[in-house]
Amino acid sequence: MDFERIVTSHVKGLRPYQSARRIGGHGHTFLNANESPKSELYMFNSTTLNRYPDCQPHEVLEGFADYAGVRPNQVIIGRGSDEIIGLLVRTFCSFGEDGIVIAPPTYGVYEVMARANGAKVAIAKRGADLAPSAEGIIAAAQGAPFPVRLVFIDSPANPLGMTFPRADLERVLTALPETLVVLDEAYIEYCPEQDQTALIATYPNLVVTRTLSKAFALAGIRCGFGVARPEIIAAMLKVIDPYPVPDPVAQIARQALASGGLSLMKIRVAQALKRRATLEAALLSLPIVERVYPSEANFLLARFKDGQAVFDALLQKGVVLRAFMDKPGLENCVRISIGSDEELDEAMRLLSDFAEGK
Ligand code: PMP
Repeated sequence: MDFERIVTSHVKGLRPYQSARRIGGHGHTFLNANESPKSELYMFNSTTLNRYPDCQPHEVLEGFADYAGVRPNQVIIGRGSDEIIGLLVRTFCSFGEDGIVIAPPTYGVYEVMARANGAKVAIAKRGADLAPSAEGIIAAAQGAPFPVRLVFIDSPANPLGMTFPRADLERVLTALPETLVVLDEAYIEYCPEQDQTALIATYPNLVVTRTLSKAFALAGIRCGFGVARPEIIAAMLKVIDPYPVPDPVAQIARQALASGGLSLMKIRVAQALKRRATLEAALLSLPIVERVYPSEANFLLARFKDGQAVFDALLQKGVVLRAFMDKPGLENCVRISIGSDEELDEAMRLLSDFAEGK
């Protein structure tokens, strides 16, 4: 049988999300996925693995709700915030009818999840120098030729690094009261003063997504959260898979969200911010660097004179960066995750060699 023939027409046209792991790249130093450079030790009890886990393990819900300053019935747990993004589309966009607004360059999963679930995509314009624009988002939502159910805003933005100002967010929330505004705070631990989760009390159409993948150094367990009004959470729980949080994941997440885990996370963040400042200064001292975008997250986006040549030169030496050269507005841009001191020293040494033509 020709199985190609029975793949649905909308899946035939899909291009899967190009994650750092899927793109691959041979090397020994990976600065391409905004991961924390080091894993921690966790206690693990295997005596309950014969049982199915709770769909939403209560202690994780409570741990995260305490940490985020909300109630457990305002939280949903998924396999990374990626799953939460997909659930939002499946819950709120009718297949083939409704859609979302994004403001590229932005996190690629929003569009992939929309397309995979039959949702349409409207593009919002950014301001000068790719600055976030509340007006651009409002205009795109109001002018779209389909009902816009979701607006996705990453803050800090990936790969640009800047946050979405609170006043702008409030303008969007007020102008689009019938649309859910999803604020993706995957990197918020690196700039906690910019966290807007508390606005959920004032704006019923605000949804915030968070994750343990970045500052908590747990990308490998796949654990993320959505925070919203209880009615929104209840609707999403109708379409979630039966057991989205494996028991080992719940055990580790509980430890990460307990006071010891939170203290470690804060230390990790402080160290990453120091290393980011060092890397930024070092990059700016190189003649091959045209600009470094100010970042509030655990990565820097740099524009080089020849981004492709820089990317290739480091890849050849086993240092894998993330290329954005083919994205509109990001010509010659390469993103560098804030790795360990050793990893960043190696990357800088190779960049200096490249600049000197070695
Ligand atoms: N949002 C943004 C802006 C990201 O950069 C990422 C990670 N690449 C995610 C969400 C997804 O994170 P996770 O699924 O690991 O929680």
